[in-house]
Amino acid sequence: MKNVIFIAPPSAGKGTQSSLLMDNFHYEHISTGDMLRSEIASGSSLGDKLKKIMDEGKLVDDELIIELIKNKLSSIKGPYILDGFPRTLNQAQALDEIIDDNYEVIYLNISKEEAIKRVIGRLTCKCGKSYNLNEDTLKPKKSGICDSCGSVLQKRDDDNEESFVIRYETFLSSTKPLIEYYKNKNKLHTVDMSKDRLEVFEDIKGIVIND
Ligand code: AMP
Repeated sequence: MKNVIFIAPPSAGKGTQSSLLMDNFHYEHISTGDMLRSEIASGSSLGDKLKKIMDEGKLVDDELIIELIKNKLSSIKGPYILDGFPRTLNQAQALDEIIDDNYEVIYLNISKEEAIKRVIGRLTCKCGKSYNLNEDTLKPKKSGICDSCGSVLQKRDDDNEESFVIRYETFLSSTKPLIEYYKNKNKLHTVDMSKDRLEVFEDIKGIVIND
């Protein structure tokens, strides 16, 4: 299997597609957002600083994030998904120094209107599953409870309209240029996120399964 790098605006469905890859092909999920949120949950002073940046919808320092990813990748054996990294050109260039060529980049293309609808309905679980109250197929079976592990679902602090608008602008200015970067490397694939999640997953399978 190919390693996967997702590039996507906020709330495009990275988490949902990551879960499908993990459940079907035993991918390891590396989400920089989750790693940062667990630092915040630890109550450290670094976590307090991170929370402020993330709640405002801004990006955390390249240096810190690159260090986190370097450490994480050094302990990964199986195929992995990079969910939320790289988000800047600087991060992409640093990643080139760390990984080999066995990866594909998948751009999850979604309109701003659809993404905002998803962000407002999104609920997440500490086990990594995410749900959406605005989509019938993504609602939890029991209201407010994770289908997989039974924990109480939470709303992310940055899943509100105000923070979304900044995150989306940050995506356009800092992350979208990566599309050109990976196109030039012949690594870019675009999937249409207006389709049903299982149809999208079929498209993704076609990209990640080695011939
Ligand atoms: P996510 O869970 O991927 O939506 O990320 C949540 C937030 O974590 C982002 O809005 C950023 O503030 C921060 N973050 C996650 N990944 C990165 C990254 N690669 N570079 C900088 N900031 C990041």
